[in-house]
Amino acid sequence: MSRPPCFVANWKMNMGLKASESHLSDLIKHCADVVLAPSKIIIAPPFTALQTVSNILNTAACEIDLAAQNVHFSPKGAYTGEISTEMLCEIGCKYVIIGHSERRILFSENDEEIHKKLVAVRKAGLFPILCIGETQQDRQAGKTWQRLQGQLNSVFSEEFIASGLCDTVSDWMIAYEPVWAIGTGETPEPADVAEVHQQIQALIADTVGKGVPRILYGGSVSEENIVDFMKTPDIDGVLVGGASLSPKTFFEIIAQGASAK
Ligand code: PEP
Repeated sequence: MSRPPCFVANWKMNMGLKASESHLSDLIKHCADVVLAPSKIIIAPPFTALQTVSNILNTAACEIDLAAQNVHFSPKGAYTGEISTEMLCEIGCKYVIIGHSERRILFSENDEEIHKKLVAVRKAGLFPILCIGETQQDRQAGKTWQRLQGQLNSVFSEEFIASGLCDTVSDWMIAYEPVWAIGTGETPEPADVAEVHQQIQALIADTVGKGVPRILYGGSVSEENIVDFMKTPDIDGVLVGGASLSPKTFFEIIAQGASAK
């Protein structure tokens, strides 16, 4: 399937308004100055910077989509501190990161909540960037696929598939992010990532049967390893945390990664 590779920047809890503005204008300048190989770029700033980033992206010289890092599954109500899908749509978001391991581990999000978020996101016409990944313990116990399969099966319930809300699955992103690789500088071998990506593709093709999403890799992606990941078949892009905080580094990751595909 030939779709441009995708590069997602997850700024996490970094960058206020001024930093977001200056980061983005640098990134846009880099992207506008060179002819990039076809690529899809998505930025996920913190909630407070979404509007500012959205305004800048609306008039940017290059196409970059906006993502939120989280959302609540209820449409509105007494949920102090939460943000709804409608609020994200109003601001111009197209994607939402769901099930990031930091949310699963630090904020105890479980598969049931993740499933509810996925349903809410699709009902609102947004697209998920669904994160799944095994822990070091899972890996050492030889249970990587068991963990990933469990995470996928719990979101792709029969009812969800029958509802038609998964019919757009080929426009979604699944980010395979081994928990032990996030922010550690440790990475799996690209060939091992590709094998996992093939398993994810096969599971979704079998259960949903409406095409396959882009499968991204995430975990300590850098300028040094991007080419090795992106030249590997079945790796459709990357989700970048720490290295996306420098516009120059993130741009290099996009430029080198897109031409390696
Ligand atoms: C992430 O948090 O999704 C991530 C991939 O982080 P990092 O690139 O810093 O490992």
